[in-house]
Amino acid sequence: MSHVFGPVPSRRLGRSLGIDLVPFKTCSYDCIYCQLGRTTNKTIERKEYVPLDEVLEELECRLAAGPEADYVTLSGSGEPTLYSRLAPLIAGIKERTDRPVAVLTNGSLLWDRDVQEALLEADLVIPSLDAGDEATFQWVNRPHAAILFDRMVTGIEEFRQRFSKPLWLEVFLLKGLNAAGIQQERIARWLDRIMPDRVQLNTVTRPPCEAFARPVPLDELTQAARLFGDRAEVIAEYQTVHHGEYYQARREDILNLLMRRPCTLNDLATGLGLHSNEVVKYLDELLREHVLVCEGSGAGAFYRFAKRTDDDSAPQ
Ligand code: SF4
Repeated sequence: MSHVFGPVPSRRLGRSLGIDLVPFKTCSYDCIYCQLGRTTNKTIERKEYVPLDEVLEELECRLAAGPEADYVTLSGSGEPTLYSRLAPLIAGIKERTDRPVAVLTNGSLLWDRDVQEALLEADLVIPSLDAGDEATFQWVNRPHAAILFDRMVTGIEEFRQRFSKPLWLEVFLLKGLNAAGIQQERIARWLDRIMPDRVQLNTVTRPPCEAFARPVPLDELTQAARLFGDRAEVIAEYQTVHHGEYYQARREDILNLLMRRPCTLNDLATGLGLHSNEVVKYLDELLREHVLVCEGSGAGAFYRFAKRTDDDSAPQ
């Protein structure tokens, strides 16, 4: 298993060197919009899923090999705060690089004092909040039975009070579920309590885990951003493409494989020896550029070229 991937292009984090701390797909949630497919190990057990020494050794190699990253980001195949050795990990990263450490978390365990202590050493924490009440939380995030809405959201609030560095809150809006006015108002009330430095609005742009997880149009996202106030921004319309040699080579690899046959996310990741989170970033760009189309949903979704190629039009 490879624990370090990228750097991947990220609008929010520039060139983000990812660290994956849990096996695919270990998470405390099973979000209906998850781009990685359904959670196969829904848990709140915190443990050293992958050996700390191995992760740090791999990080050292990646840092030496380049290209340079803007952030080292804890993210990956599930929820990074399930990793029990977060504190020595962050300390180890900081011994090896002066790049800031970002943590992308679903926020479900921020009530846990050990998680809080460890994350206090990060430079940027980005939790999620997709609901303003218990019923919507259960619908959208399908959390582990031990995580109730109040516990989760007050955990984020408590962590915010202790964490003086930047905290950006991501809100993922879904048509017909949490994007209705009343739902948004409930989320807005929690935002006023939590006081994140930024609120980042997202919606479905990649094949979701469940076909009924539908995107919110851009104009509705923009309206929601107004309701959430000055600190809110829409991040769903991700347009940035990095043009460096490293990034172009990966795009080419993906296109070359798709030239031969349509592939699922897993086919591409396995075929190219890349982490699925890395492949997803390039697919995102290629879908937005209308180079590719995606057919189907969940783990079985196929990617193929949008335009018919000579091969496609050749008689069978
Ligand atoms: S979107 Fe994130 S929090 Fe939700 S199931 Fe997927 S990995 Fe877990």
